[in-house]
Amino acid sequence: MAERLFNFNAGPAALPLEVLMQAQEEFVDYQNGGISLLEMSHRHKRVEEMNQETQALLLELMNLKKGYHVLFMGGGASSQFALIPLNLLQQQQFAAYALSGSFSEKAYQEAKYVGEARIIASSKDQNWSQIPQLNTQMIEPDCSYVHITSNNTIEGSRYNSIPQTNKIPLIADMTSDILSRKLDFDKFAMIYAGAQKNLGPAGVTTVIIHEDLLQNASKQIPLILRYETFVKNQSLYNTPPVHAIYMMNLMLKWAVKQGGIGALEQQNKQKAKRVYEVIDNSNGFYQGFIDLKDRSDMNITWRMSSEELEQQFVNESLLHGFEGLAGHRSIGGLRASAYNAVPLKACQALAEFMIEFQRQHE
Ligand SMILES: *Cc1c(COP(=O)(O)O)cnc(C)c1O
Repeated sequence: MAERLFNFNAGPAALPLEVLMQAQEEFVDYQNGGISLLEMSHRHKRVEEMNQETQALLLELMNLKKGYHVLFMGGGASSQFALIPLNLLQQQQFAAYALSGSFSEKAYQEAKYVGEARIIASSKDQNWSQIPQLNTQMIEPDCSYVHITSNNTIEGSRYNSIPQTNKIPLIADMTSDILSRKLDFDKFAMIYAGAQKNLGPAGVTTVIIHEDLLQNASKQIPLILRYETFVKNQSLYNTPPVHAIYMMNLMLKWAVKQGGIGALEQQNKQKAKRVYEVIDNSNGFYQGFIDLKDRSDMNITWRMSSEELEQQFVNESLLHGFEGLAGHRSIGGLRASAYNAVPLKACQALAEFMIEFQRQHE
């Protein structure tokens, strides 16, 4: 095998080598059953067991107890932008959105097609360089839910604390930081995440929803769009993305082996610190986008003095075995996504490369 690259892709993103190797080992013959998982019915006992085990593992890692259901859905996190208001935005009420980056804005725009959606806080005028301040006065009682994006993948910012919502259900898009840090997950009525950043490969979206939130869910929408349908059928109402769920299963077992979320968080802090230190000590050669207090450990973003220099940085980084450092096409600059599966040594190597690049180009 060719040497593995230092993979800083934003998503789909790095998976642990041992997870890939185990999947390879089991690929043709799943658990000595004579056929592969890809060829099995989703009603097969082994698939059902794997599905349930994956749900239980996720709840356990997040320390979520009774009342929460784990759903595996298709359509990516983007489909949730529409499914959330379709299911949960009550008639005569409104949905509250805090805008902290472009994904949160997309979520808000989709909700407007469904009903009344209001922006209760936004940092758009600050070019998303910080997390908008939320307070309970902004949240009125006739509000069906409050939606936030806990980590802003494109911009590189994150909430450091969970906003208070006066008992209004809080919903978070955690696509790019789920399982990366400890949070009181039971403060959320619903959490969702496309798997392809911290949970596994593309193709499955995880929804963690509290049953209280389902009580008033809409019965006006088709069954296939209802969370309730997925809860009642353990996500086996129709054919789920079985192989993607299986990869997530392996990923969750890997996370347990690393010591769980607490251990991963410590590791992630160290990883991000390496790169931020280089940015902060570069005398402006590298310039972070985000206010220091709101920086993400998952997506580290910065600019350089010209687009030519940024391009040169990307080109040279590729030659040195780094993958995925160009910023999102919508904002440019550079971005290193250091999700759970990215090892510390990749961030160390990146930090060294950045120091050397500055020495040669300053
Ligand atoms: C990647 C991402 C999305 C989009 O996910 P898809 O699965 O491609 O729809 C939405 N929100 C956040 C925070 C993301 O990081």
